[in-house]
Amino acid sequence: MNKEVDILVIGGGAAGFFSAIHAKATKPKASVVILEKSNKLLSKVLVSGGGRCNVSHNQPDLTELLKAYPRGKSLLKWVLRKWGVVNTVRWFESHHVSLKTEEDGRMFPSTNDSSTIANALLDAAQNLGIEIITGNGLESLRPHENEFMVQTKEFEFAAKSVIIACGGFPKIEQYHFISNLGIQIEPPVPSLFTFNIPDTQLHDLKGVSTPWGRVKVSGLDGWFEGPILITHWGLSGPAILKASAFLARELHSAAYKYTVLTDWTGMGEEAAREHYISYLLMHSARQISNANPFEFPRKLWEFLLDRAEIKPDKLCRDLSKSEKNKLLEVCVRSEYKANGKTTFKEEFVTAGGVALSEIDANTMQSKKIPNLYFAGEIIDMDGITGGYNFQAAWATGYIAGSSSVKR
Ligand SMILES: Cc1cc2nc3c(=O)[nH]c(=O)nc-3n(C[C@H](O)[C@H](O)[C@H](O)COP(=O)(O)OP(=O)(O)OC[C@H]3O[C@@H](n4cnc5c(N)ncnc54)[C@H](O)[C@@H]3O)c2cc1C
Repeated sequence: MNKEVDILVIGGGAAGFFSAIHAKATKPKASVVILEKSNKLLSKVLVSGGGRCNVSHNQPDLTELLKAYPRGKSLLKWVLRKWGVVNTVRWFESHHVSLKTEEDGRMFPSTNDSSTIANALLDAAQNLGIEIITGNGLESLRPHENEFMVQTKEFEFAAKSVIIACGGFPKIEQYHFISNLGIQIEPPVPSLFTFNIPDTQLHDLKGVSTPWGRVKVSGLDGWFEGPILITHWGLSGPAILKASAFLARELHSAAYKYTVLTDWTGMGEEAAREHYISYLLMHSARQISNANPFEFPRKLWEFLLDRAEIKPDKLCRDLSKSEKNKLLEVCVRSEYKANGKTTFKEEFVTAGGVALSEIDANTMQSKKIPNLYFAGEIIDMDGITGGYNFQAAWATGYIAGSSSVKR
């Protein structure tokens, strides 16, 4: 069956819905269709944030906000200026969804239920008269006489503009429908994962966490800060996820085999040493197991004492210089061999996709193919965990949608 449409949006996820809604809201007379491959709309929105949907991150300062994106900064610095966190909050409020901010800045619907977000998007699309076709994925895309021919299982569309918002894919071949048009794709690799550490003694500490630690991958730049959680397969928590995002390409190249250095104190060696030495002097008559200068969870402190080969009943004043040094070393630079990765609450994003240099940040339009737009995770941009990925999807969706109808 043939269909003619002004704006064809590929993908019924966060970016696709936001693109379609803003296209239709900007030009109500335009015919707008969302094409979704699966039979489910907004499936990631629904499962996101553990079923609560972490919609955005309360960071009004653009410079700070951009620090949460390992890839995509050069595009997002323009995009987030046009559609920032405040715009997201206002849009949802104007669609009867109030958002709340948690202590760490993550924003959720006040209902704590991701279906509140999905329903707001579905209602907005329905009220605007956007047509939604499910179970029909784009199979081919071909520019033809100032239009695009898009083939799906059941339809052939002739569309004046196409917005590609079909998320990230694990394999480069899945981007061929875009690269065939001469558009450069950065190879996809996974981002946001936890580190598998095959160390059964560490696994025995599962559930133990430190409120603020730092991690580094040996041989690579940067320490990554935040809470660290020990799991029954290795290390997890915000500091680890941050490292996995910023080092996504390097860790992929290393086939996920590398050495992780963990600063359980989160203080850095110099500050930790200063505190540790004076603490041991002040508590010289205590057994080291009861000293615990960094107030680690008890199980973690006992584990570190064991790693430093120090008997727990030894008095602080009886520690030799080398024992003191070794204990500090395991507190600020414990080494663990990682082998493999696991997802964190099934959350992951794709690093890679449509190269930033291919997109005009003012419109989200392809620089090579007029009237072809991109939004969301299909682009080589991704954030750390905390609501940044949806914020990028809303912002790029808004710009792609509202620009697409200004033809
Ligand atoms: C479990 C999980 C939890 C997450 N939680 C959060 C969170 O709380 N906060 C946050 O900011 N980020 C979170 N993320 C990341 C966030 O979900 C994504 O960054 C975001 O969904 C990207 O939106 P998108 O619309 O670009 O892509 P997607 O949400 O992936 O949507 C793309 C849609 O396109 C469809 N599609 C694919 N190919 C085709 C085709 N050929 N034709 C038609 N349709 C097609 C797909 O079926 C899909 O429905 C989470 C991710 C996961 C996996």
